[in-house]
Amino acid sequence: MFIDGRATPNGQVIRSDVCLIGGGAAGIALALTLARRGVDVVLVESGGLELDQATQQLYDGEVIDNDYPPLRTSRLRYLGGTTNHWGGACRPLDPFEFEAHDWVPHSGWPIRSSDLEPYYDATREMLHLPEPHFHFDANETNSNDHVPLFAPGPTGEPDFEPVVWRRTQPGPLRMRPAYAQALRTTRHLRCLLHTNITALIANNERSAIVRARAATLDGRRFAFEARNFVLCAGAIENARMLLLSDQKMGGGIGNQHGLVGRYFADHGGIDLGEVHFFDSAPTIREESYARSKFEPGKPEQGDVVGFASSAIARERDRLLGFSMMCFPTRLSRTPGGIRSLSKAAGGGQASTDEGPSRVMRLVGVFEKSPNPESRVQLDTRTDALGLRKVEVDLNVQQHDRASVHAHARHFAAELARTGHGRVRLIALDDFPWTPLAGHHAGTARMSDDPKHGVTDRDGRVHGMGNLYVTGGALFPTVGWQNPTFTIVALALRLADTLSTSSR
Ligand SMILES: Cc1cc2nc3c(=O)[nH]c(=O)nc-3n(C[C@H](O)[C@H](O)[C@H](O)COP(=O)(O)OP(=O)(O)OC[C@H]3O[C@@H](n4cnc5c(N)ncnc54)[C@H](O)[C@@H]3O)c2cc1C
Repeated sequence: MFIDGRATPNGQVIRSDVCLIGGGAAGIALALTLARRGVDVVLVESGGLELDQATQQLYDGEVIDNDYPPLRTSRLRYLGGTTNHWGGACRPLDPFEFEAHDWVPHSGWPIRSSDLEPYYDATREMLHLPEPHFHFDANETNSNDHVPLFAPGPTGEPDFEPVVWRRTQPGPLRMRPAYAQALRTTRHLRCLLHTNITALIANNERSAIVRARAATLDGRRFAFEARNFVLCAGAIENARMLLLSDQKMGGGIGNQHGLVGRYFADHGGIDLGEVHFFDSAPTIREESYARSKFEPGKPEQGDVVGFASSAIARERDRLLGFSMMCFPTRLSRTPGGIRSLSKAAGGGQASTDEGPSRVMRLVGVFEKSPNPESRVQLDTRTDALGLRKVEVDLNVQQHDRASVHAHARHFAAELARTGHGRVRLIALDDFPWTPLAGHHAGTARMSDDPKHGVTDRDGRVHGMGNLYVTGGALFPTVGWQNPTFTIVALALRLADTLSTSSR
């Protein structure tokens, strides 16, 4: 059932088993799963069924790094959340990304890939991903003469492996149109639209949340009470809400060790240069392009194939996660936020080739290391609800850049070594770290130790019996894989925890 918060009487208290805050990918997956199991759910969503500027403006905030796009354009504040303009490319984190790496300070998840795998089938279904696996399979290509692009190196394994990102079908899944009907008709589910949570209020013992305060842009004030509360408002807004909830707990809820908002991360992504493939390597299109089913004019359809550094190579060279895609030159400008060569390097040669080409753009997507100085903090300026806005500092480190240099140079060397081609890299010394600006993560990271994480392995805020966080905020490290598949899997795992503790 949809309820317009603007028609809710002042002072009303709305009660439920579970109160979910934010109706994007995570909130919708969690709400429908819980309600279908008979749990009484209220989903509180700031926006309505369509984008409206006044609500979207509530996402305004400051960014310290000039390369970081404005916060009010990279996220969407209405039902369906940022899936209303995402690309729909999905891939789970590989098991390696969950492990602690001694060359990456603060790395390591408290859970393993095997803890999330039981939820992958339901995640695929929720995200409309028909393919049952994420392995690159040469037999799926159109080629009869498949030749691997990268030969094994001294380790016996190639340093770069072909990898697949599956795409939601038939195009990027917009969760608002896809799930509006289910949200409207599923029993046990009330969806409060145009309703902003403004603060969480703790009990006197500061051990649980008793109430969530709500406001509408036209001045209504009411509240929610529930056995359990879950923040599903995206990594930046989840941190903001914890920090704003300082009525009884100085510094905000869950912030006893000053960790809320820290370790903010986003993937970097730039056009690294161009690859010239030699005629002796006729299979590049099968491995990196034709298999992707990219078609001119339909850049948002079809799976994507690229390359990622192998775990062995990363461990040997002590590097962060790194992946690359090759695009025909005229498609190279289509991925959101990725710069073209000429913009990145101050005027490189762009091919005018109109079709699949022997010269292809090389686009890299790379991991940012977990850094406590990468932060979401409260600003002194306020929004239309009188709430303090955020200030975001991505704070990219020299070793983040060094890792990109090393990977890109190694990729070029490997291609030359195997005789398949040459790479003309951009000037990497001062390349712009262009964030993808939508893969927000890390602001309420999981850890078994409250001194190292805001949330525990279940996503429960340390010290709070009934407050959970879900979404990218939980990620201790982000790997190179797109985040939303893991975000939905985490939400579905949380549904199991809440199904038993909420009734
Ligand atoms: C341009 C772009 C392309 C992307 N492409 C991909 C891709 O190809 N693959 C991929 O995996 N990921 C991609 N992403 C990232 C993906 O969109 C996010 O990972 C995903 O949407 C996060 O889901 P979420 O539910 O955590 O947050 P969101 O989807 O952002 O949802 C948060 C919800 O919370 C609501 N909300 C916020 N504050 C409040 C409040 N105070 N009270 C009530 N409600 C509130 C918002 O209105 C919103 O509906 C992309 C992002 C961008 C920007």
